[in-house]
Amino acid sequence: MDSDPKVFVISGPSGAGKGTLTDELLKRVPSLTRSVSATTRKPRPGEVNGVDYYFLDEDEFKDRIFQGGFLEWAMVHGNYYGTLKSVVKEEFSSGKDVVMVIDVQGAASIKEKMPEAVLIFIEPPSIAELVQRLKLRNTETTAELQERLKNAETEMGLAGNYDYVVINDDVERAVDELVGIVKAEKRANKSEGDN
Ligand code: 5GP
Repeated sequence: MDSDPKVFVISGPSGAGKGTLTDELLKRVPSLTRSVSATTRKPRPGEVNGVDYYFLDEDEFKDRIFQGGFLEWAMVHGNYYGTLKSVVKEEFSSGKDVVMVIDVQGAASIKEKMPEAVLIFIEPPSIAELVQRLKLRNTETTAELQERLKNAETEMGLAGNYDYVVINDDVERAVDELVGIVKAEKRANKSEGDN
């Protein structure tokens, strides 16, 4: 068992492919687990409570904020999203390394609280490609899509705050790069512990 779990934070604009890349990364590196966030966003078809997110209503979410239940939380595209302390504690106790797929505000909070966390930013090859992917995904209304695109530009401007930037030009290549980053960071962690 790994006694020194590591936190990897993955961010990037909506439609950059964070979900797909993270799923593939988890398949390739079984010692990783994805942290399940809480949100007030309504579930998309096929999303399961407790697996994709913990779906809370706004009152429940705010109660958790007031109780100090979140490691970090943020308002993203008009909904609340957050990482529950209790959930992360449980994930750590599994001995696995934790991947948090969270927005740029959440990533900054995590880096502040856990400076050893590794921050990875996923970029689409271009804004045009991002528009195309979001339209094909077809999970947002036109207004939501506009909001996500507007936020994408702000988010891309913050990529410089991350330890790594991975361009999702090709899923297989990008996953290889992610696996390489995770393995290198784990090795670095281990050799630090050996010294
Ligand atoms: P979606 O609605 O597409 O699932 O996620 C929208 C955005 O919320 C994404 O950028 C995603 O990374 C972010 N997000 C998901 N969970 C969290 C969280 O726990 N905290 C923060 N700060 N952002 C999150």
